[in-house]
Amino acid sequence: MSNNTVAKAVQEPATVLVTGATSGIGKAIALGFAKNHLAIAINGFGKDEEIAAVLNELKAAGAKEAIHVPSDMSLAGDIDRLITTTQKKLGSLDVLVNNAGIQYTANVEDFPAEKWDQIIAINLTSAFHTTRLALPMMKERNFGRIINIASVHGLVASVQKAAYVAAKHGIIGLTKVVALECAQQNITANSICPGWVLTPLVEAQVSAIATKDGINRDQAVEKLLSEKQPSLRFVALEELAALCLFLSSSSAASITGASMPIDGGWTAR
Ligand code: NAD
Repeated sequence: MSNNTVAKAVQEPATVLVTGATSGIGKAIALGFAKNHLAIAINGFGKDEEIAAVLNELKAAGAKEAIHVPSDMSLAGDIDRLITTTQKKLGSLDVLVNNAGIQYTANVEDFPAEKWDQIIAINLTSAFHTTRLALPMMKERNFGRIINIASVHGLVASVQKAAYVAAKHGIIGLTKVVALECAQQNITANSICPGWVLTPLVEAQVSAIATKDGINRDQAVEKLLSEKQPSLRFVALEELAALCLFLSSSSAASITGASMPIDGGWTAR
């Protein structure tokens, strides 16, 4: 293929699915795409009025369209419906952001087997299903961007996070395989590896430190950050959204198979 042919094939995305976008990082990423006027599908749990509020926020921010597809990412049948419905209602699926995730902390010997299964299902296996189901249409259109929200815990470990660390290391491996298999089809796959970001998932860990150490919330935040994140500040949600937008653009066509820390220096130590 000549360079000219490659240049012509590159296009900007029009449609995106962000999983787990009723809260935290996923919601912020969806808002970033909304500001760029993409048509957006989200899933994630929440009360009807909370989900309606997120969809209204996306539309107010500029989304061409915003839909919520009810689906539990631990269920393969639901994921099938999520991808089919998204492609049908939006007309295509140019960008897939695998973001839905959960956390549970315990030492390995105390780790409940059902929590292990749940974390592997939601944080890892769901991305396998969404990816395998989204790829045929991406290949047909000769365009695709797959962005997996991994974690610093895809690169390094922390105590008491066996299932989470295993799932996040796994999703980085999956990303690399997809990148290799799609390298000549204008489809990229990359992992983003955030450090601490202040979302409900982390707020629960702040509360746990405060309770365990008998300290207040501010002290617990300081302890959490100083143990791992040299910047001593949370990664901003907008920074993650901006990185996703860049990775989705035609300018990022040659970035594939990468695992990008966005962690205030956590993994530089
Ligand atoms: P969050 O708890 O604020 O949001 C999680 C989202 O996933 C919610 O919308 C929730 O409804 C959805 N979700 C959970 N289980 C689901 C299921 N079974 N089916 C469908 N949706 C489901 O969490 P967050 O902090 O925004 O985390 C988002 C992603 O970012 C996760 O993959 C997490 O591992 C990753 N991450 C977070 C941090 C951080 O510091 N917050 C750091 C690194 C990576």
